[in-house]
Amino acid sequence: MKSAIYRGKYILQGLDKITPEMEVDLDRAYEICVGYKNEIPCELCGRCCHQPHIVVLPQEVDKISNAAGINLFEFMTEYVTQTSDGRLLFKKTDPCTFLGSDNKCTIWKNRPEICDEFPFVVSMFMSRVYLAITNHKADILELISYMDDTWPCTGAIKNTIVQKVEEARKQHVQLL
Ligand code: SF4
Ligand code: SF4
Repeated sequence: MKSAIYRGKYILQGLDKITPEMEVDLDRAYEICVGYKNEIPCELCGRCCHQPHIVVLPQEVDKISNAAGINLFEFMTEYVTQTSDGRLLFKKTDPCTFLGSDNKCTIWKNRPEICDEFPFVVSMFMSRVYLAITNHKADILELISYMDDTWPCTGAIKNTIVQKVEEARKQHVQLL
């Protein structure tokens, strides 16, 4: 499937390029998502640490293995796997190997960037906010129905996202 990359890392499936007009709405979607990340305090409940695909950037392997007290060779062979497109992921466990018995991350200050951004500033959520801003018939709550309401953060998103999308749609219409 065709896809375009926004801001160097957000994969937008179904798009083959990003025009300047699309970029304006993508920026609006991005601002909503970043706003959530800044507004909603993570309650450290550990629920999102049961996700299967935790991406590790090449530049993160040293700090994560150090924080975990695992030598680099063991970390790369026992804890990380490489996908066919070259990305590194934690080997699939449920929950994440680094979630402590108290439901807190044992490498919190050195956790992968994706853990800091999830579920707010990630491709899946941002692309759906963008779709809702640009397609006025789209139901944002339906688009993000994959989000688990029992997570404190996603519950707060679902309670406020309709209004945020409505405000962004007004700006979108003004430019048409
Ligand atoms: S589910 Fe949300 S509130 Fe809970 S740890 Fe993850 S980001 Fe924080
Ligand atoms: S590294 Fe930490 S924050 Fe990230 S999934 Fe594992 S336990 Fe959760």
